[in-house]
Amino acid sequence: MRPSTLDPLFADATQLPGIGPKLAKTLADFIGDKIIDLLWHLPSNLIDRQYRPSLAEVEDGRIATFDVTIIKHEAPRRRNLPYRITCQNDSGFLSLVFFHAKGDWLARALPVGATRMISGRVERFRDNLQIVHPDHMLAAAEFKKLPTIEPVYPLTAGISAKVLMKAVQAALPRIPALDEWQQADWLAKNNWPTWQEALVAAHRPEAREALEPHHPARQRLAYDELLAHQLVLALVRRQRRQMLGRQLAGREFAPAEKLQTAFLDNLPFQLTGSQIEAAADISADMQAPSRMLRLLQGDVGSGKTVVAVLAMLQAVANGAQAAIMAPTEILAQQHGETIGPWLDALGIRWGLITGRNKGKQRQAHLDALANGETQIAIGTHALFQDDIDFKDLGLAVVDEQHRFGVQQRMSLSSKGNGIDVLVMTATPIPRTLTLTAYGDMDVSRMPDKPPGRKPIDTRIFSTDRYPEVVSGLKNVLAEGARIYWVCPLVSENELVDLAAAEDRFKDLQKHYGDAVGLVHGQMKAADKDAVMARFQAGDIRILVATTVIEVGVNVPEATVMIIEHAERFGLAQLHQLRGRVGRGLDKSSCLLIYRGPLGETAKARLQIMRVTEDGFVIAEEDLRLRGAGEVLGTRQSGLPTFRIADLEAHANLLPTVHDDVKLMLHNDPNLQSPRGQALRNLLYLFRRDEAIRYLTSG
Ligand code: ADP
Ligand code: MG
Repeated sequence: MRPSTLDPLFADATQLPGIGPKLAKTLADFIGDKIIDLLWHLPSNLIDRQYRPSLAEVEDGRIATFDVTIIKHEAPRRRNLPYRITCQNDSGFLSLVFFHAKGDWLARALPVGATRMISGRVERFRDNLQIVHPDHMLAAAEFKKLPTIEPVYPLTAGISAKVLMKAVQAALPRIPALDEWQQADWLAKNNWPTWQEALVAAHRPEAREALEPHHPARQRLAYDELLAHQLVLALVRRQRRQMLGRQLAGREFAPAEKLQTAFLDNLPFQLTGSQIEAAADISADMQAPSRMLRLLQGDVGSGKTVVAVLAMLQAVANGAQAAIMAPTEILAQQHGETIGPWLDALGIRWGLITGRNKGKQRQAHLDALANGETQIAIGTHALFQDDIDFKDLGLAVVDEQHRFGVQQRMSLSSKGNGIDVLVMTATPIPRTLTLTAYGDMDVSRMPDKPPGRKPIDTRIFSTDRYPEVVSGLKNVLAEGARIYWVCPLVSENELVDLAAAEDRFKDLQKHYGDAVGLVHGQMKAADKDAVMARFQAGDIRILVATTVIEVGVNVPEATVMIIEHAERFGLAQLHQLRGRVGRGLDKSSCLLIYRGPLGETAKARLQIMRVTEDGFVIAEEDLRLRGAGEVLGTRQSGLPTFRIADLEAHANLLPTVHDDVKLMLHNDPNLQSPRGQALRNLLYLFRRDEAIRYLTSG
């Protein structure tokens, strides 16, 4: 039950002046219909009414305030003309202009001979100074009421600035003082105000700085919001674990050292430090009685596959099945080619299950999964389909997660009880954002790369130099190189993009004939495979591709990556594409071709690609240049939208929020201490009280 101290904040917005039922409805769709919703709606701008020049010196176009005497009314002679009122003071004349005005109302409000304080935007019209529809017209007794600084709120159709401003300002005195939910020493250290003071300060900005995300009031409120958000994530995660923990009583995957050692002994290389650490994290998760939900973040080529295999071996050694899923047929195929022989050497039965298995062959695969004959399944999302049953699926590895939806992750969970899940992504998300994007998962990062990689020489070209690039390929081909040529998704329309790739293909064919191949997302699976196989074999030397090759494909002999319209890609994507080369022994290069003119940001972004190959650095820089929403691709990441917090500006707060939540739930798991109770209030205020039911009462 919501504590009654919060009641004034959860009253209907219609209790505020100027908000009737109709406006309340518009507000409800826009920001919410309770008083608290209006309070979380912070101003985005302000109007400064401190500019009080003389009429002789006022600057055109500025908001200004004058004391004047009314000297003349001129009613319009025709309906479409405005009503004019002339005013005067000792520095000059000023016209007040009203369209569609009621003359009798104006005669009463601004009688000739009266003095008024007038505030609004000044325009010069012919030789006259005028203000059209002044914002304020105050009689002497009301002068003090003129706000020197007025907050301006983000608006939507059907809501007027003035009405919203008045309503919010009227709500401020209703804010109760609440028990503090932040830690006293943290507040003191940052010099942050109380919640009540912070809200009032945010709504009564005294200067432009008060609108900045770094203003103490805004920072405090952002921290509050992030705290509420992370607290809910932690509670949900804990709840999920407890539920699964109960379902899974007794199911723990013991370490599988023998099998894992046998596997590692067969590899021609030593694991990197990152791989060892990640594998240890995963093994510990799998040994624990609760379900694993872990994200493995590692740059392209960091060696995630080996880590996944170690995890799968642990499940298999315990008699369970494991599955690894790739986002495309090509990648599933490739996993089969890499992982299959490793498993064969260990005597482990595996199957490659994709949408391509048909008829009897498919049935045989399904039977083998259902009766436990197949110990490890390698496949695409075809593994999620309803007709697929596992005898005892214990671990699911989802590769290149950004191509999978949450929905698909869910349907995977339905394939067994409390399946351990390992999600692998090569999208390097900045550390500060990982928690927000993947708050429900534990995270292992693999910063090290296997030794011996050659740096990739990256260059940036304008499309003007296309002919030069094409003719330059002759030399590269003579040296035996294999080349990717990527045509981007330019429109949202695949067919249009395909046409662009086909044009490029035809043009390159004119120069290099049969050495050129084309692969794209619309092709039949078997045709795609055939093209890829020919590229792998070296029959095709220049592979024109839409972004289907983006994820994971491994052709170590490929040493040149050409990306057209590079400016249209996200940096993470460029980085992934570039990661397709530099995998073999030979020196590799990458050409980013852009269509100019480029803005400063776009230029800076491409430059980053030139100077570094570290995916995490690229991600941090991309974040700095473009902002969080775009880096994560809001739709893909399921990133929550915040009312106050700005993930870019407030990213520095996230680690503290995370620690704060962790410690809090450790010390007071059910939020019963005074601070715990205060935090419950915070959850109500941010409308995240659904998680409160996960707390045991009393
Ligand atoms: P990704 O993380 O992009 O999935 P992969 O698992 O495909 O990377 O690994 C890329 C390449 O590096 C593969 O050829 C793999 O065999 C090799 N590799 C993995 N780990 C190591 C290591 N510790 N030392 C050397 N090579 C490695
Ligand atoms: Mg991979």
